[in-house]
Amino acid sequence: MSELTFADLGLADPLLRAVADTGYTTPTPIQAQAIPQVLQGGDLLAAAQTGTGKTAGFTLPLLQLLMRSPSRQAGRPRALVLTPTRELAAQVEESVRVYGKHLPLKSMVMFGGVNINPQIRALRSPLDILVATPGRLLDHVGQKNVDLSAVEILVLDEADRMLDMGFIHDIKKVLALLPAKRQNLLFSATFSDEIKSLADRLLDNPKLVEVARRNTTNELVTQKVHLVDRDKKTDLLIHLIRERNWFQVLVFTRTKHGANRLAEKLDKIGIPAAAIHGNKSQNARTRALADFKSGELQVLVATDIAARGLDIDQLPHVVNFELPNVPEDYVHRIGRTGRAGSPGEAVSLVCVDEFSFLKDIEKLTKQSIERFTIPGFEADLNVKPEPIPMGGGARGRGQGQGRGQGQARSGQPRQQHNGKPRHQTESKPAGHGHRGAPARAPGGPRPQGGSGRGRGGAPKTS
Ligand code: AMP
Repeated sequence: MSELTFADLGLADPLLRAVADTGYTTPTPIQAQAIPQVLQGGDLLAAAQTGTGKTAGFTLPLLQLLMRSPSRQAGRPRALVLTPTRELAAQVEESVRVYGKHLPLKSMVMFGGVNINPQIRALRSPLDILVATPGRLLDHVGQKNVDLSAVEILVLDEADRMLDMGFIHDIKKVLALLPAKRQNLLFSATFSDEIKSLADRLLDNPKLVEVARRNTTNELVTQKVHLVDRDKKTDLLIHLIRERNWFQVLVFTRTKHGANRLAEKLDKIGIPAAAIHGNKSQNARTRALADFKSGELQVLVATDIAARGLDIDQLPHVVNFELPNVPEDYVHRIGRTGRAGSPGEAVSLVCVDEFSFLKDIEKLTKQSIERFTIPGFEADLNVKPEPIPMGGGARGRGQGQGRGQGQARSGQPRQQHNGKPRHQTESKPAGHGHRGAPARAPGGPRPQGGSGRGRGGAPKTS
């Protein structure tokens, strides 16, 4: 049987031409499922992680549904896409432009952290598709710059993250401004009870599409843990970047301060690096991202929320300089690589303080991640774990883009002391690297199953 094409999905010619221009030939599974469903006009509940091609999955049919009667009214969009972060909003709107380039439809993006006036000016022109973060959208609503009473299609993109960031009240306010009769599309990587109840309230008899089990990681991403002492992490990162000629590395830290410090250190020793996080101006973030994509910057150091939705084609390396305290963030972080069919590597630099985070991640993703030791960076697993300082205080996420309402789900520094680290054994370096004794850190039996990757506990040299 021949492979499915975009034409098979019922897309119109101007959209097929735009897709062909991007070079994509085969729809991804989420596109194959979502596009025909959305074209039929009903509500949709889609379980899809970033990297699955979900953006085109809703953008293409949305453009097709709107293409016949472009808006003639200023500031009165016919489709509204809500996203949790500025970066994701910008990228979704970019996709709208790319896929809609042969159509007469108008789009705009709005988010906070930038001057509102250009957005007000843009709202004085006809508008079909508005991509927005909830906070800034409500600011415009308050100023009566935008009228949501003509919205025919609502998309909630990365709805789980919007709830994590405390946007539920803003979302409810927006929903109250929309016409009752409309098409709703809800995309979420995970399905908490909160998401389920939002879906129950919002969606009418939705079709369900699901392409990845929730909280699973992408098979194309090779995951590794490098056990290392906490004060050797920077040196190990530099070593890896240099030894392995890593040219495009996205590095995650837990805090904004940590991101700045690391980027400065790398830059100082001649590895071009910049940090992006919520305290940076939008312009600085956009510039850093553009320089990273173009290859001018070798390393981009990011915090979780700032990196959410970052779409970098064929990003080969993601490094968790620090493990996230919220295990779902691990899945999102490593989802930056291994996108749309290209392989990637996700390396976590883990010190004894982080074993409980590692355990949570392995529990969530139902896999064990293989441990490796880099010669010269053998960790002393007998040192006493220290509590982990959280950048954002008890908020745990260390970021503040959610209009000050972000909730930490597990934001308390975790104590894993009892005098001893919870892992059981450690391996001793035997000449080159570790051999022999299995290091079953962190403690307790290993979850089995999952991807089948990375079983067996002995750290390997890599
Ligand atoms: P998303 O999950 O929407 O963030 O998309 C992830 C990446 O996949 C983006 O870089 C897209 O440009 C790319 N992409 C989307 N659809 C396809 C496709 N059908 N074939 C190959 N790449 C795609």
